[in-house]
Amino acid sequence: MSLVDLSPEAFASHLLSLGQRRAYAVHDARTGEVVVSHPELRELREFLTTNNRDYDDHEGVFLEVCEQSGALFGAFVHRGHRGQGQGGLRHWPYASVAAFLRDGLRLAMGMTRKNALAGLWWGGGKGLIARVPGEGHRDLTTRATLYSEYARFVTSLRGCYITAEDAGTGPEDMAVVHQFTRFVTCVPPSIGGSGNPSPATAHGVVCAMEGALDHLGLGTLAGKKVVMQGTGNVATAMIDELLRRKVAAIVASELSLERRALLSHKFAFAPVALVPAQAGDNSILAEPCDILAPNALGGILNPETIPTIKARIVCGAANNQLLDDVRDARALVDRGIVYVPDYLCNRMGIVNCANEQYGQVPNDPAVTRHFGREWDNSVYVITRRALELAEQQNITTAAAANRLADELAREPHPIWGHRTRAIIDGLVADRWHLGG
Ligand code: NAD
Repeated sequence: MSLVDLSPEAFASHLLSLGQRRAYAVHDARTGEVVVSHPELRELREFLTTNNRDYDDHEGVFLEVCEQSGALFGAFVHRGHRGQGQGGLRHWPYASVAAFLRDGLRLAMGMTRKNALAGLWWGGGKGLIARVPGEGHRDLTTRATLYSEYARFVTSLRGCYITAEDAGTGPEDMAVVHQFTRFVTCVPPSIGGSGNPSPATAHGVVCAMEGALDHLGLGTLAGKKVVMQGTGNVATAMIDELLRRKVAAIVASELSLERRALLSHKFAFAPVALVPAQAGDNSILAEPCDILAPNALGGILNPETIPTIKARIVCGAANNQLLDDVRDARALVDRGIVYVPDYLCNRMGIVNCANEQYGQVPNDPAVTRHFGREWDNSVYVITRRALELAEQQNITTAAAANRLADELAREPHPIWGHRTRAIIDGLVADRWHLGG
């Protein structure tokens, strides 16, 4: 059995049995090789170099075993040219080290692209905590211990990775993290954070819808029918934005009876129809409309759902909408559907908290310029560029957005250059793996 087939807990015990709590795999830019911290971890290196789909010469992968709980911590830095590797901390169960690594590598690469397309001076990164079975992950004391230790791990990485909230973590957890490291963003407003990102996310997605409509020469949102799956925080703000733009009709499905009741009341006099749904029910995607906005779950654009879609445009807030990035993006093109990649249109969640350390101003231009049409990196402008590139080169919109993103991701930070690389080199030179 290879090391990567072990469960994260078994791998953590294995590391401890070697007398280590830490390990790394970093990319050596001179030789193009992956360098691992311990000779015993060569299977890790083999996994990275043969896993071409998720591994893209990531600058560094850092692992540590949590002293108190034995949980495996990860910090993944993909590209650091534009700045420190930034991406949220996911606290999630993983069946194997391979699954853990794949998720971290893929999500860090996604953050490089999202941050670059948004014009943020950040690289891409991701944090992971493998949930230990039976750890009582909802228990506040357990969480506080875990996140304080994770924060110390982040501090030890000297700022090559900046953490934030993600699936399984929230602003309160980031408040704990903030007590033990300065390398965190998206903290609660009570300690100087930026607060609820959902209205900005919704606004950004609507700008992308406008870009897609203009690309197709279909005019404005006025008079259009928009269908959405999920009516949570983002979707509710999106309905407000769409009504302001005078859409003719909105049909939205929702699991929660309570939520449907609340919104039926809120939008009682608006052309908004709320449809009940059950878990696993994707029938809303087949509703005829101009624009379909997946606002609930990932993976819902797949071989089962794509043939049923009757929209011209798919553009929504949910993360990782394509079940398979290549196959399903192509299937949408083949059906004549214009798909706006989620990481292009749902960027405002991260933009909203990206520059917390630079202070707060009303109607912050660092946020509002994303909604305009003048700035090169605004949602509207980037959407149009990606859709045009896809058409010109006969590639999928996801491939086009990736091309634009990968080019932007190589631009060095205007002040700090490729300092993230220098931080990682410093960790290796100082034998970071022997600490902890
Ligand atoms: P949320 O949890 O507030 O809303 C999701 C809603 O979808 C819930 O009301 C839930 O009941 C409903 N839902 C789940 N499965 C459903 C189904 N099968 N059919 C119908 N309804 C279903 O989440 P949110 O903050 O509004 O975010 C929505 C999506 O956008 C998520 O995928 C999130 O990761 C992504 N996103 C959010 C932000 C942000 O700023 N909040 C930023 C970027 C991406």
